[in-house]
Amino acid sequence: MTIKIHPAIDSGIQAGNKDFSGGTLTCKCADNSVKVKIASQSAHNHVCGCTQCWKPEGALFSQVAVVSRDSVSVIQNENKLAIVDASQGIQRHACKECGTHMFGRIEDKNHPFYGLDFIHTELSDENGWSAPEFAAFVSSVIESGANPENMGAVRSRLSELGLESYDCLSPALMDAIATHTAKSSGALA
Ligand SMILES: [Zn+2]
Ligand SMILES: [Zn+2]
Repeated sequence: MTIKIHPAIDSGIQAGNKDFSGGTLTCKCADNSVKVKIASQSAHNHVCGCTQCWKPEGALFSQVAVVSRDSVSVIQNENKLAIVDASQGIQRHACKECGTHMFGRIEDKNHPFYGLDFIHTELSDENGWSAPEFAAFVSSVIESGANPENMGAVRSRLSELGLESYDCLSPALMDAIATHTAKSSGALA
């Protein structure tokens, strides 16, 4: 039995298009859907096993990427959005009716990823978004109820799809966070 990771990649990862310049995310409501326009290509797309990121029905992982917050604008039914948990570093703005997270925003200017919004590119009909590059917080799927005994199979499947498994973020992003911390503390000029 093939382990299902996420519907957008279970049949193989679609390559991104370097000339792609954005699209529109739509929530899952059949009527009066929330629409969010993204005016740029995404970056650092990955699958994430954490318990905070929004996952489609039945998916083991979420698929999540970043864009600059200036490129994100709500163009329809903004009144249906609410912040899921304002105490989180990344505040997820979700549709109150269908629960879909439309974008995650950081308001703390000292946060290493301030200025970036987190989005789920699968909510767009357009093709060409940057492809997932790695799997983050893989062990955390257990926190959502995944069987710990299947983790070997989960990691093998990720590897087969070409995604390196990490139990935090990728080395490049962990280095970016540590660099931000070191510059804040003065350890790095
Ligand atoms: Zn909705
Ligand atoms: Zn996550």
